[in-house]
Amino acid sequence: MDCIFCKIIQGEIPSYTIYEDDSVKAFLDIQPLTNGHTLIIPKQHFENLYDMDMEILKHIELASQKIGKLLKEKLNCQGITRLQNNEYGQEVKHYHMHLIPRYENELFELKTDKNKITETQEIFDKIVK
Ligand code: AMP
Ligand code: ZN
Repeated sequence: MDCIFCKIIQGEIPSYTIYEDDSVKAFLDIQPLTNGHTLIIPKQHFENLYDMDMEILKHIELASQKIGKLLKEKLNCQGITRLQNNEYGQEVKHYHMHLIPRYENELFELKTDKNKITETQEIFDKIVK
């Protein structure tokens, strides 16, 4: 399969791996948003959240807790922001969780079009009715 993250798992592409076990691997992002920006991926190929195996999802959560603590201890970050893109906005089509260390007084922005935001009641009705 022509998937760069599968190639990383198979050792065909090098990575700065900081954690690995039977089902997941975590390595440093090549275009870090902050120092220590890490990606956690399942060793098995799943495209996104919708087709992820339940046990592996649990495992990603556990690994993300461990790695979060590791980054906090080693890099002295003041926080960790997790991000996980699915379909639109997802560059690599192999499930991955971003762990982005946050440092006090360092810029980190998620910008959206505020004029495209609809009334919360209207959105709620669309989702639950
Ligand atoms: P996303 O937009 O959520 O799919 O994010 C994909 C991420 O993978 C980006 O932050 C890239 O910088 C990162 N990335 C792409 N190729 C590699 C690679 N070979 N090693 C490490 N990170 C990578
Ligand atoms: Zn893959």
